[in-house]
Amino acid sequence: MSFSPKASAKRKISFVLPVYNEEGNIKALFEELLKVSASLLPKYDSEFIFVNDGSRDNSIHLLKGLSEKDGRVFVVDFSRNFGHQAATTAGLNHSSGDAAIIMDTDLQDPPEVALLLVKKWEDGFDVVYAKRRSRKDSVFKRFTAFAFYRILNALSEVPIPTDTGDFRLMDRKVLNALSEIKETNRFLRGLTSYAGFNQTGVLFDRNERKSGETKYPLKKMVKFSIDAITSFSVVPLRLVSWLGAVVAGLSILGIFYALFMKFFFPEITVSGWTLLIISVFFIGGVQILSIGIIGSYVGRIFSEVKKRPLYIISKIYRKNLS
Ligand code: UDP
Ligand code: MG
Repeated sequence: MSFSPKASAKRKISFVLPVYNEEGNIKALFEELLKVSASLLPKYDSEFIFVNDGSRDNSIHLLKGLSEKDGRVFVVDFSRNFGHQAATTAGLNHSSGDAAIIMDTDLQDPPEVALLLVKKWEDGFDVVYAKRRSRKDSVFKRFTAFAFYRILNALSEVPIPTDTGDFRLMDRKVLNALSEIKETNRFLRGLTSYAGFNQTGVLFDRNERKSGETKYPLKKMVKFSIDAITSFSVVPLRLVSWLGAVVAGLSILGIFYALFMKFFFPEITVSGWTLLIISVFFIGGVQILSIGIIGSYVGRIFSEVKKRPLYIISKIYRKNLS
């Protein structure tokens, strides 16, 4: 879905807010957002698109409450949990602003940084991402995130900014381009880089999560990383080919060795058993590894060809609408 802005009206900024079990944060977040939108008001209208990604807590009731009170609040309620990237995509698809700002709803992305993003947008940038100068997360999270962004960047075909989450502003042009990209395993940060346009970053200090726990347990983090790497890189596939070449080279050496031993030291050829066992294990291991990597790409092909919708909406709440 894409909208074109009205020529005469004040320009509008959409805040895209994915929510998964954030009952402890919604109220405080909305208060902060109201302050930000008041600062923007002389120049811009705001709209707040909350996407409830199948929360199991009281989040949807709080969001419904907001939509009843404030006509600028738009709530998209998913039929179940479809994941952070699907929720963000839904929010972007429903945005009618001239620019959209994606923001986490746990107050880790400080809402006032939005003002800096808007300033850069006014300077003519189409994508302004907020890059973490520092973050207050566990050592494990900081380390895995640090490694993830560096590995991804080394492997990816398009440069993806390091230490940058989904917190960013995107111009309508970019939103329209993104909505043309139909792939299912969406890694939005990569897709934004892929879309191109004028991009820049601003630095910010990332807060602690205000309430509740991270919704990214290790399992989701691993899936997220695999999605990101296999979406934006064929390096793992190429590695398999290289590995195949190296193994083939080594086995030729092994054959020479075996022949050499057989002809020149026939009395001890039985010791070739060691070599045999090692090569069996080695080849077996390499094959399993290769099949695993190929499998992950086949899995992606499988989910892309199914052309399932990215998400299913159960209801939309908006003043004078539901
Ligand atoms: N989120 C979501 N669906 C999910 C997981 C997370 O919509 O399945 C939202 C969550 O409510 C938050 C944002 O995505 O607004 C980032 O999640 P979280 O803060 O748990 O990630 P972290 O900051 O720990 O990486
Ligand atoms: Mg968070």
